Order: sequence, then C-alpha cells, then structure tokens
Amino acid sequence: MDIADMENVRDDSYTRTVYQRVVILALLTHGSYAVLFAFLKVTVLCFYNMASVVFYLFMLRLIRKGFYRASVSCIHAEVCIFVAVMVCMVGWNAGGALFLIAVSSLVYFCPFRKKYIPYLFSAFEISLFFTLYGFTRRGAAVYLLDDNILSFLYICSACACFGIILFSSFTARVSATSDRRELMKENENLSVRADYDQLTGLLTRYSFQKRLEDCTGGRLALTIGDIDDFKKVNDTYGHVCGDYVLREIAELMRRICGDKADICRWGGEEFLLLFNGVSDKEVLEAVQTLRRTIEKHDFCFEDEALHITMTFGVSFGWEKDDVPHLISIADAQLYHGKKNGKNRVVG
Ligand code: GH3
Ligand code: MG
Ligand code: MG
Repeated sequence: MDIADMENVRDDSYTRTVYQRVVILALLTHGSYAVLFAFLKVTVLCFYNMASVVFYLFMLRLIRKGFYRASVSCIHAEVCIFVAVMVCMVGWNAGGALFLIAVSSLVYFCPFRKKYIPYLFSAFEISLFFTLYGFTRRGAAVYLLDDNILSFLYICSACACFGIILFSSFTARVSATSDRRELMKENENLSVRADYDQLTGLLTRYSFQKRLEDCTGGRLALTIGDIDDFKKVNDTYGHVCGDYVLREIAELMRRICGDKADICRWGGEEFLLLFNGVSDKEVLEAVQTLRRTIEKHDFCFEDEALHITMTFGVSFGWEKDDVPHLISIADAQLYHGKKNGKNRVVG
C-alpha cells in the first residue's frame, strides 16, 4: 500500500466516523421533530421528518457500505431541502436555518475526488441561508405558530446544531490525535528501517554515513568482507539458505567485532567494518579471528552442513574525509585476497 492509498484509507475512515455519528444525530433530531410537529399539528413537517428518518436509515447503510461521496452529497441535499421546507412552513424564527450553518463545514471531511466540490456545497448552503432570510422577510409562513412555541423550536434547533458541530469537531480531534500517534509510530518504523538492514539487523549504508560523521578523529581502519562463492550457496541450496548464511555471519560479526567496530551491510553479501581509535594490530587480529570463526562455524540449513568462508580487505588512515579513498583501498585488498585463493585477510 503506498502513501496515497494510506491517505485515502485515513480520509475514508474520517468520513465514515464523522458522518456515521452525524447521521445518528440526524435520526434523533428528525425523530424528535416528527413527534414535536405531530403535537403542533404541522402535518407537512411531521410527515417530512418521518420520511427523513427513513432516509437517514438508508444513509447509514450507504455509509457502512462505503458509498461516502454519494451519501454525503445526499445528506447535504436533504439538509438544504429540510431547512427550506421548515423555514417556509413555520418561518425563520423556528431556527431551521441554523442547520445550514451546522453542516456547511462538515462536507470538508469527505474526500471528494474533485477538490472544489466541498466549496460548492458550502457556497450553496451559505447562499441558501441568506436567500431564505430574504424570503421570510417578505412572505409569511404557512403555519403561524405562537411566539413561545417558536422560541422553543429555536432552542431545539440551536441545541441540535451545537450537537452536530461539537460532535463532529470532537470526532475529528480524536481521529487527528490517533492519526498523529500512528504517524509517529510510522516515522519510528521508517527510521528503524532506514538505519538497520532488515535481513541482518546491521547498519545500512545510510546510517553508516551518519556514524562516520560522528567519528571523533584518530586512527581509522576500514574492512570490507565478501562471502566466498556465495552464488554457489544460493544456486545449490536456494535463496532462503543464502539469507540464513547472511544472518549467521552478521551474528558472528556482531559477536566478535561488535564492541570495536561499526558493522554495516554494504551490499548483497558484502560487509563493511569501521574501526575508530583501535590499533592496526588489534584490527588485524580481530578480523583474523572473525575469518577463522566463520571458517570453523557450523552452518547448518535444513540438515545440510555448509562450509562458508570469507575474504577481507583492510585499509588504514587518519581522516574521516579519506573514507572513500580507504574504501577503494580495502576493495583492492579484497580483490587481491579473492585472486590469491580466498578465505584470507589482506591488509
Ligand atoms: P566470490 O567468491 O568471488 O565473491 O564469488 P561469489 O559467488 O560470492 O560472487 P558474488 O560476490 O558476485 O556473488 C554475489 C551473490 O550474492 C549474487 C547474489 O545472488 C547474492 N546475493 C546478494 N544479496 C543477497 C541476499 O540478500 N540474499 C541472498 N540469498 N543472496 C544474495
Ligand atoms: Mg560480492
Ligand atoms: Mg562473494
């Protein structure tokens, strides 16, 4: 899964969580309004709200099935129709238009493929708000309700709108916090992956360069080790066996030179050891010990005993800026070792 896919999954889960909860709120609101308007004998709005309950149950199914864009568009359209009908039926003072304010920012939670679509939705909702305001100034509502009832309806609408705004903001905040935690975890994983070779657990070339920058100065020794006839191991016993050999060798290197050198998997079956502040004699002794240990080690893969050896080229210097040069010398020494029979240390 690439980064774009991960973003999509995150966006989708955002939409799903936010809208699922908003739909549940809408169900409660429309259910309560259906009862309330039945009580107030505003039959049109009573039936409308009953139909809305059915509509939102359907939306819930649609969201659960993953049809985010379609359901979000339908929900916003429904809110616009509901507000228009409510304002026309019972007038501006019942607070129905507040729902347009409450939902105008919700649409941004939905990952529409075309980025301008949420702007269109909110622009339409804002203009509908002011159009209805202008409209109610001119004409009277179909149902003329008592001022106290209108105030009550206004408070109900305001509470439902606050509920929608706070509920969605809270959900978004919780999701953002868990996203941040996930992101930090991903970053940590990525940094471990960049610093350590997955197969052997040794340093990667990238982190080796960083270690080099941290060198304090003093005597430097670079050793390049290459497994002898490794192709044969792969060809005879398969790549899985080759990987086992690489892991075993990495372990032996860590055991024997780990306290004296930074060890890096330089390439496929090539390893690089950087000694800093260790005497030349000690370096050569350590590399010889490593070579002998590998030669004597019982490599055993699926009951097959393997005899593995390695050739090493060693170079010495003082300056860390010299390292590319030291690497090329160590490489040349390695080449000599390979030409002269392998399984040796050339320094
Ligand atoms: P030489 O003694 O001259 O070094 O001979 P060689 O057969 O070892 O030759 P070479 O160094 O060119 O072989 C490298 C082989 O290492 C080729 C490649 O298939 C194998 N290899 C590189 N990376 C991996 C790995 O991650 N896993 C396994 N199993 N094999 C690898
Ligand atoms: Mg090689
Ligand atoms: Mg080799």
